[in-house]
Amino acid sequence: MKPAGPTNVPYVGRFAPSPTGPLHLGSLTTALASFMDAQLHQGTWLIRVEDVDPPREVAGATEAILAALAAHGLSSPIEPLFQSTRHDRYKSICAHLLEQKMAFYCACSRKQQDNFGRCAAGCQDLDISPVGNNLRINLPVDNRDFTDRVYGYIESERLTFDNAIIWRKDDLPAYLLAATVDDIDSGVTDIVRGDDLLFETHRQLAFYAVLKKDVPRYAHIPVVRNDNGKKLSKQTGAEGIDINNPIQNLAKALVQLHPEFKFSNESTNPSDWLRSLQDHWYLPTKSLQT
Ligand SMILES: [Zn+2]
Repeated sequence: MKPAGPTNVPYVGRFAPSPTGPLHLGSLTTALASFMDAQLHQGTWLIRVEDVDPPREVAGATEAILAALAAHGLSSPIEPLFQSTRHDRYKSICAHLLEQKMAFYCACSRKQQDNFGRCAAGCQDLDISPVGNNLRINLPVDNRDFTDRVYGYIESERLTFDNAIIWRKDDLPAYLLAATVDDIDSGVTDIVRGDDLLFETHRQLAFYAVLKKDVPRYAHIPVVRNDNGKKLSKQTGAEGIDINNPIQNLAKALVQLHPEFKFSNESTNPSDWLRSLQDHWYLPTKSLQT
């Protein structure tokens, strides 16, 4: 049964694809969930292209993803934000953190880091060159438990996130920095994304605390997996969706989120289809045990 509707609070949501391949069923499912949640709250839905990792990007993928979203009626009145245009902003945050002595360069190789990816050699107290080394932020390790709108209460894994990389040794911003700063600057209040990032949230909440900003609400939806139980992604060989069958694709994505849903939607236009879904839409609820 559909739960009671939300109260009238300001809502800004976003979908943030990486142009590492075409839109596939997994990314369409996340886009659908975040779009519908924004509609339910009469909020704003933003699109952000996370194009900050050129070695992993595929030529033409950005255009293909944006065209696929539009073909499925998943559009925003606001122009997409491209992270590749935001390096100066990210660098200014790094400079501020360095000035405050809240960030430090670390020369630890991947092998030298501990099991949680932390600096294990006390680089903070050494004179490490900024060139060719990772920049890490000192994060507070106090309680970062939070209530996820899908999974409920999530306990923080204490002491596992105290010095995360924010600028990579290959001179590119790390996900933690770029995503958090963009969400803050875009006024994002609600993040609906895949549950593969559920335990990344504590680190992000700690980063919000460092930047003295209000935290958003989170909803982590189950990621779509292939027959081998692996998350659908470019790396696991996910195929791009056929944008000539948007209604069929949207229906498939909806089944991923709500296998139990029994509602017939005769609309043949994707925007009408999404509008018809609005009266029935709610986020799934899950438990970590199931
Ligand atoms: Zn180190």
